[in-house]
Amino acid sequence: MTQIGHGNAGHTLHLPDGTRVELAWAALTDTGLRREVNEDSFLADSPIFAVADGMGGHAAGDFASAAVVTRLATHIGEAIVGTSEIDASLRAAVDDMRRGKGVTDEGSGTTVTGVAVAVVGGRAAFLVFNIGDSRVYRLRGGELEQLTVDHSIVQELVDAGQITREEADTHPHANVITRAVGFHEAPVPDYRAIPLEAGSRILVCSDGLTKELTPYGIRHFLLANPRPQSAARQLMDAALGNGGRDNVTVVIVDVVEVTAPADADTGIVERTGDVPRD
Ligand code: MN
Repeated sequence: MTQIGHGNAGHTLHLPDGTRVELAWAALTDTGLRREVNEDSFLADSPIFAVADGMGGHAAGDFASAAVVTRLATHIGEAIVGTSEIDASLRAAVDDMRRGKGVTDEGSGTTVTGVAVAVVGGRAAFLVFNIGDSRVYRLRGGELEQLTVDHSIVQELVDAGQITREEADTHPHANVITRAVGFHEAPVPDYRAIPLEAGSRILVCSDGLTKELTPYGIRHFLLANPRPQSAARQLMDAALGNGGRDNVTVVIVDVVEVTAPADADTGIVERTGDVPRD
C-alpha cells in the first residue's frame, strides 16, 4: 500500500485560461478485516486523484498499485493534466512492473481510476479515467451517479442482459476484471470529461467499498457529511462494519468554488487539446 498525499481543507488552482478553482479533499485506506496485506494504493494531491487496486501473488499487487500512483504523482503541482500525460504515466508504470524482478515475474497488475483537473474543449473539467473495477462516482444536487463503467466479467453479463445488477455483486466471477494496468499489456483507459462545478463531490474508491455498501448507502454518507474528511471516515467505518472483506480505499474531492476568468462572457474561448486542423 502506497499513500501519496493526504487531506486538504482548501486548495486553490489557477488554470491556464484564468479559471480559479478551489478544491478540498480527503483520502483513507484500510487493509480491511479479512486480508493480510493492503494492495490498494492512492494518490490524493492537486491536480490528480486516483485509486489503484493491485493484484498478483505475494507482493506483486502491492508493487503494481504503487507503480501506478507513483508515476501519476509526477503530475502533482501541474495546473492541468491531459490524456496523453496519463497514458504516458501508465505505460511507464507497466515498464516498472516489468522490471520488478523477483516480485512481479509471475505477472502483476492493478486497476486504476480517478480524476484529474483538465481543460477540455476550452472549459475547465475533471478528466475521469478508468481501467478495471475501481470506481468514480459524482454527487451533485443530491444525486449520486457512477461515472465509470467497470471492466469486468459481471459488467459484460449485465450489459448483455444475462444477469441483473444485484446478481452481479454475488456472482462467482464478481472479482474477475477484463482490463488492467500490467500483465505486459498496453494500458488502455476509458476517458470522459465532466464540467468542474462548484458544489459537486467526487468519490474515487476501490471495490472493497462497493462490495460492502450499496449506492444508496454511499449516497447517504456523502450527503450526511459536508466535510470530505468525515465523509471518508464514515464510508470507511461502514465498509468495515459490513464485513471489510477486501482492502478499502476512499478518496473524496469537493469542488468548493469555480471562478471563471474575467473575459469569460466575451465568447472568446481559447481551445486546447484535440482541435481539428484544417
Ligand atoms: Mn479490491
